[in-house]
Amino acid sequence: MVSTVDYDAIILGAGITGLVSASVLKEQGCRRIIVIDEFDRLGGNHIDCSIGPYTFDIGSFIFQDDSPLLAHFPEMLSDYVPIDPSWGKLTPQGAVASYPLSIKEDILRSGLWGCARIGLSVLFSRFARAKIDNARDFARYWIGDYLLRRSGLESYMMRFFGVAAEKVDLDFAEKRMLWLKEHSSPKALLRHLTRHKSVVPTNRQLARPRSGYHDLYSIAAEKLRRQGVVFRLGCEIDLIRKAGPGFVVEAGDDRYVGKRIISTIPINRALASCRLGVDADLTSVTLISLFFSFSGRRGFDCSVLYNFSHDGCWKRLTVYSDFYGAIEGREYFGVEVIASQARDSIEFAEQDFRSHVSRNNLFAGDLTLEGSRLVPHAYPVYVNRAQEKVAAALAKLRAFGVESFGRQGGFDYQPTARVSTQNAEAQLRARA
Ligand SMILES: Cc1cc2nc3c(=O)[nH]c(=O)nc-3n(C[C@H](O)[C@H](O)[C@H](O)COP(=O)(O)OP(=O)(O)OC[C@H]3O[C@@H](n4cnc5c(N)ncnc54)[C@H](O)[C@@H]3O)c2cc1C
Repeated sequence: MVSTVDYDAIILGAGITGLVSASVLKEQGCRRIIVIDEFDRLGGNHIDCSIGPYTFDIGSFIFQDDSPLLAHFPEMLSDYVPIDPSWGKLTPQGAVASYPLSIKEDILRSGLWGCARIGLSVLFSRFARAKIDNARDFARYWIGDYLLRRSGLESYMMRFFGVAAEKVDLDFAEKRMLWLKEHSSPKALLRHLTRHKSVVPTNRQLARPRSGYHDLYSIAAEKLRRQGVVFRLGCEIDLIRKAGPGFVVEAGDDRYVGKRIISTIPINRALASCRLGVDADLTSVTLISLFFSFSGRRGFDCSVLYNFSHDGCWKRLTVYSDFYGAIEGREYFGVEVIASQARDSIEFAEQDFRSHVSRNNLFAGDLTLEGSRLVPHAYPVYVNRAQEKVAAALAKLRAFGVESFGRQGGFDYQPTARVSTQNAEAQLRARA
């Protein structure tokens, strides 16, 4: 099919960035907009999997009712499930403690000599080390070598980045680990110690509806459709070429003509579609998600548990039955593992998880693997001065005429839908 419509904008990707971009462009007076995605459902990397009576997410997704996303699509609010999540970590000492740092487990339990070593190593890191070059240096600067190891943060960083922390660029560490700076400032430590309970969250925490993300984001898409936005899902893009003052997007037998291209798909996909070459250094993490059901004694109370111990390749688990209720007496949860940490093998990831939790006295009872999923492009990791390479790739696309931004489109670690919304608004408003 060759589109006879000359679109004002063609948006590639129907994730948060794509949906918000359509909404902002509408506000700016753009009349004819089409959103194209190779996935056959809305929401991009917000992926859920229904297996039997259970619905899992590929990771830990928690939203808030004051998200700017809801300013675009307020109709979605009533479909979220209000939740009361809590976060914890499994420490290298085998305890479940507060996430990300626990004054009691990480510091006080280290004893007098341990506390002295923590103090000395922080002083050394702050005043004697000259350079902060990478993610490891960054963490060391804030909490010192000794606490970095004792708290398990060093091991978690390896699990999160998929490569040793000293290989990860400083920009990425600053983006992903800002909390470290916030938690280890003298003011924050004093707040912890005096147990000042002044930080009561003013927003409500939310999870997706039971029926999944597609239903949730269909509410947003329906609103956009009523404003004239067209959606083409399950449509793989082959080629983007220039035609007169605009562009043609070729997808199978279909052709879409537009004046403007907004790309939110992985940056290398956009480069390849424009025949601009790809940059092999712009690598993203592939995630293995394992989905379990369980009955027995789980051994911890929090709904999200991070693995800070020195072994076990799993990174984080989320107990969805805490949000949606157990099913026939069984709890159910998802486990995230960076594929490269598990020899790119789902079987290895499962066996490793089972033996690790058993060694740590977690999930004593009947633990059944219900399914799994491999997610490429889960998040970008900055290695080998990626920032410069991203800037070069974005400049190439810009010179070709493609505006590329978002978590994949900007190769930008956007931790939340809130940040992705704000980024899309800022990008499009700046251009307007
Ligand atoms: C594991 C995980 C946990 C997260 N937790 C939270 C959370 O708790 N709260 C929160 O608000 N946000 C969370 N986020 C971040 C949030 O999801 C992102 O900020 C937001 O989804 C980015 O939207 P986007 O449209 O820019 O990109 P994406 O959703 O990544 O997708 C853009 C487009 O790129 C293409 N694409 C995406 N993935 C792939 C793929 N695997 N292969 C090929 N093409 C692909 C699709 O066409 C898609 O439409 C999490 C993300 C992940 C991956």
